[in-house]
Amino acid sequence: ATPTSIMVGTGRGAEMGVLLRKGDALQRLDEARVVAFDKTGTLTEGRPRLTGVTLAGDWNEDDMLRLVAAVEGQSEHPIARAIEAAAHEHGLDLPQPEGFRAISGFGLGARVDDHDLLIGAARLMEREGIDTGAFVERATEMGARGETPVFAAIDGQLAAILAVADPVKDTSRKVIDRLHAQGLQTAMITGDSHATAKAIAGQLGIDHVESEVLPDGKVAALRALRERHGTVAFVGDGINDAPALADADIGIALGSGTDVAIEAADIVLISGDLAGVVNAIGLSRATMRNIR
Ligand code: ADP
Ligand code: MG
Repeated sequence: ATPTSIMVGTGRGAEMGVLLRKGDALQRLDEARVVAFDKTGTLTEGRPRLTGVTLAGDWNEDDMLRLVAAVEGQSEHPIARAIEAAAHEHGLDLPQPEGFRAISGFGLGARVDDHDLLIGAARLMEREGIDTGAFVERATEMGARGETPVFAAIDGQLAAILAVADPVKDTSRKVIDRLHAQGLQTAMITGDSHATAKAIAGQLGIDHVESEVLPDGKVAALRALRERHGTVAFVGDGINDAPALADADIGIALGSGTDVAIEAADIVLISGDLAGVVNAIGLSRATMRNIR
């Protein structure tokens, strides 16, 4: 690679909001065969809303929501903001939880008002021996719509299933189409359920889906994609994406993302617009053609 063409490419990148943090980023991007995306906040808006509640046992919606939202108040996950907002809309005063624990990749637990709460994915309920049979169909329906099913158990019994919807960004479908037109394969990596992930990937036309990936499993998922399909670029925004951004052949962070993600990346899309991925690949090809 001639220094001059790299300099020109870097300058052109800056003009289009593609910040190259590593000197060989364009060269490696030119070799990419697959572009893998984080789901939440990267392909989706990352601002989920509570769209439905189904109750079990004798719980009424506000009593259940008050306890669940009190626990979610301690969580950093986008799902927590959706549930807190719903409790706020219902005008609920939230009690203080005790013994809060975040169960990474599964959900949350705490004691609230003398009740034991467990909130999270189906796999959390399975792990804790809570029977979810009554809600299997509801969870399947939610998943098919691309919604995340959130199970809530109170005192060891299923109390509710909440549907949380995080719409895909307006730009996502077009970006996936354009990557395919550029001859690349696409993939999505997420901790969300298989059904939800499959529905979102289907909406977007994504080729490969790695779902129910535990937080420390993103790197392994990425390596599996690399082994099967070749050089991988990974696009992400969150703190939990930093290891994958660093491990990917090319890490691309959204400028709207967290500082930790940006620092782990080779390329930063300043405006946070996903179309920057397509522009960066176009730029890498133009630059490498000049070099050869
Ligand atoms: P992702 O970033 O893809 O959502 P996570 O590892 O953060 O992956 O979460 C995996 C799954 O664990 C979520 O899809 C959700 O089902 C469950 N979960 C995590 N945090 C929470 C929370 N605060 N409330 C409810 N469910 C949660
Ligand atoms: Mg994310």
